[in-house]
Amino acid sequence: MTDLTDIRALDAADPLAHFRDRFDLPEGVIYLDGNSLGALPREAKKRIADVVSREWGQDLIRSWNTNHWIEAPRRVGSKIAQLIGAKAAEVIATDSTSINVFKALSAAIDLNPDRPLILSETGNFPTDAYMMEGLSRLTGGRVEQKLVAPTDIPSALTEDVAVLLLTHTNYKSGRLHDMAALTKAAQAKGILVIWDLSHSAGAMPVDLNGCNVDFAVGCGYKYMNGGPGAPAFVFVAERHQNQVFPALSGWMGHANPFDFTDDYEPAAGIDRFLCGTPGILGLAGLECGVDLMLEADMAVIRNKSLALSQLFIDLVEANCPDVNLVSPRTPELRGSQISFAHERGYSVMQALIARGIIGDFRAPNVLRFGFTPLYTRFEDVWIAAMALSDIIRTGEWENEKYALRAAVT
Ligand SMILES: *Cc1c(COP(=O)(O)O)cnc(C)c1O
Repeated sequence: MTDLTDIRALDAADPLAHFRDRFDLPEGVIYLDGNSLGALPREAKKRIADVVSREWGQDLIRSWNTNHWIEAPRRVGSKIAQLIGAKAAEVIATDSTSINVFKALSAAIDLNPDRPLILSETGNFPTDAYMMEGLSRLTGGRVEQKLVAPTDIPSALTEDVAVLLLTHTNYKSGRLHDMAALTKAAQAKGILVIWDLSHSAGAMPVDLNGCNVDFAVGCGYKYMNGGPGAPAFVFVAERHQNQVFPALSGWMGHANPFDFTDDYEPAAGIDRFLCGTPGILGLAGLECGVDLMLEADMAVIRNKSLALSQLFIDLVEANCPDVNLVSPRTPELRGSQISFAHERGYSVMQALIARGIIGDFRAPNVLRFGFTPLYTRFEDVWIAAMALSDIIRTGEWENEKYALRAAVT
């Protein structure tokens, strides 16, 4: 299907098409990077302005009570829970994903104190392994990190492993792990399991409790459209919550923070995974993104995501020389992004961005395109694939201005 009339018919029949208007998208831009920074919901623009001018400006400190600021991490967490197959009281929106990885890891090694290894995979988004390394040093080497190739995970699940930390959707290739099978295999060996859902939450149905997951973390500013640096979330299965003494035992996770006692007493339940004062502006943006997502059916989002990405693969492979698919060819094995390798991927992506078609580049040679069904049209996919074809066929990317590396790729 390469005829534009057919493609417009797909948009006309799309049950999610009306969501596009709920975003404040720039004219003339095709945005295929919502997997890295989600677009701006119109509601978030209004809501954040209101939080700034009225709640902060006028109501000032009274807002912690009157505008329910103090409840925001719990309230937003309970909404995120609906997107990831968790109970309302198992998720809290707080801190960054990196910090939540640390909290989950430190909790897990505490629950499994006699085992020396924390296991993960090579080729993951680096912060997860970096946090493992920091924790290992902090424990004076009591736990050590072990990284194996993703395909070697099953054979590395041995009885000296305390915790397995995996990312559900790989950031670079979009490859999915089998959450149910790996969780089960690890738990059969007494290993606790942490899933990083950064590229899955808001992109596809996730069923943490259906998979009996122990801990999970994820990102608020990618598919959930929470805004730049939006708070992340942490999921802790109910059965573990009161067993854990938080490593980051900040006052907001205290049972009674406003008693100002000298000793730390963890709050009951998920609240003990709070640390310091929540960022209210960030939570306001995140809540709008999550509310919008909750209006749509995640199964419908997943169907459209797979249809958009398949169309992109078909069009690129039929029209663009010199690129190779990096993402799995089987739709069920990938997330909501498609990656192609090109020898000069950085320059090719800069040439695309110069035409208003925004994807991103991941070293050393990967062109990455995210498909966000709430605001991406089938026609956008067609235009992007044709532009990519044109840029490669004409050598437009060879202009030296496209070779200059920016700080953020
Ligand atoms: C994006 C991403 C993160 C982001 O971590 P921050 O602390 O928000 O910078 C973490 N893990 C994975 C797998 C990611 O893709």
